[in-house]
Amino acid sequence: MHSEQHKARRTKIIATLGPATSEAEILAKMVETGVNIARINMSHAKPDQVRKNVETIRYVSDLLKKPVGILMDLQGPAIRTGELHTELDLQPGNRIALTVRGEVSEEEHSVDVNYEYLVDDIKVGDVVLVDNGEIHLKVLGKKRNQLTCEVLTEGVLGSRRHINLPGVRVNLPALTDKDLADVELGIELGVDFIAMSFCREADDVLKLKAILDYRRARQKVVAKLEDQEGIRNLNEIVEEADAVMVARGDLGIECPYEELPIIQRRIVKACVLAGKPVIVATHMLESMIDNPSPTRAEITDVSNAVFEQCDAIMLSGETSVGKYPVKCLEVMDRIAQRVERSGGANYAEHARMDSKGAKMLKSAVVMAQETRADALIVFTRSGGMARNAAWLRPPMTPLYAFTDNDTLLNQLTIHWGIQPFPLKFADDPSLNVDHAIALLKERNLLKAGDTIVAVTEVAVRGRMIDTILRETVD
Ligand code: PEP
Repeated sequence: MHSEQHKARRTKIIATLGPATSEAEILAKMVETGVNIARINMSHAKPDQVRKNVETIRYVSDLLKKPVGILMDLQGPAIRTGELHTELDLQPGNRIALTVRGEVSEEEHSVDVNYEYLVDDIKVGDVVLVDNGEIHLKVLGKKRNQLTCEVLTEGVLGSRRHINLPGVRVNLPALTDKDLADVELGIELGVDFIAMSFCREADDVLKLKAILDYRRARQKVVAKLEDQEGIRNLNEIVEEADAVMVARGDLGIECPYEELPIIQRRIVKACVLAGKPVIVATHMLESMIDNPSPTRAEITDVSNAVFEQCDAIMLSGETSVGKYPVKCLEVMDRIAQRVERSGGANYAEHARMDSKGAKMLKSAVVMAQETRADALIVFTRSGGMARNAAWLRPPMTPLYAFTDNDTLLNQLTIHWGIQPFPLKFADDPSLNVDHAIALLKERNLLKAGDTIVAVTEVAVRGRMIDTILRETVD
């Protein structure tokens, strides 16, 4: 008989923090309900708020003895409109000027844009998409520092709205000055993951990794794929990144929307095949920002991502500004657990697990599955063992990873199925197995008579060798 913990959810949940979810009390409820990673969106959060968020999450995580990862999501090379004293109520047929370099326009409406090459990158007749694709502006004419546009769809334009130019290679650096300052803050505060928005090529990831290496910082890099160029360079980016996010908000604007489900599947599949964690993000329960229950389409969307066996599903506005943050977590948890019981896409079946470590874990996973073990236990200092254990997505076996590294403990929260625990490693590695079993018994995750499979080292003829052992719990 498998133990209780067999019911634990495998797909991890990331929740974005915001005005609705910054206080310790609500965060504690969210962590208890199932948040594995808290996301801080640097497009909105100010440094003081970030400091407070990090402090509160660490406090709650210690209080509940539950590891919680912290993901700092950089704004990236996003084009934005500037400040407006009053919002503009735009109607079809209105004219509006998009200016650059502070140009003053004589048009009825005008707004400045932070991207000085806007005029060079756009042709007359192109459509500029503003505010997450809500407002469509057709370019009627160009001057040196100004685009004159006709409003095609009505909408209210506020300050600092995001602009998308589908198919255009925006001439902004992968890490802007603001991003670089935010990276420094993330390093100082010891966040666990840094996400790069609009990651367009593998070199973007390498740039951030070089900064982290230079600073001897241990943050994992999440590459957000959100435009056509990022998709074209998918495999190279997956190779270099520590994890990948399917950022559907921008992807759905930058690419024809009917391509979105196909792109999502391609990205998830590429990541699962490569054994890299993958997050499916944005609009998963969007209607729950205002309503207490999800639409049927949202239920199906969440279940589809879980079926594809992504590592994590993400909430944005639903938890940052929504009315029902805890309810959203309950909904995701319920859908994920149900769909996980019904099976998954099993893309990992065709994974090329070339390294010795990955092959060893594959053998351990097969042994645990075949013998219906109640736990697969791994010990990890760099995270590789845990990543390899999650790679094959074993449907039956609970996966427990033990580490003596606090930073890594929080970073293990991203992997499908992995339940991370801290453990002070003994000099004799065989004792680690005893300690891990004792800890799992203490937490009611194992009981006498259960069987475990562990990947560890043992001393044989005076030498330490890797081994996979199977034993019954006393
Ligand atoms: C997205 O576009 O889906 C996304 C997650 O990015 P952001 O919320 O930073 O725009």
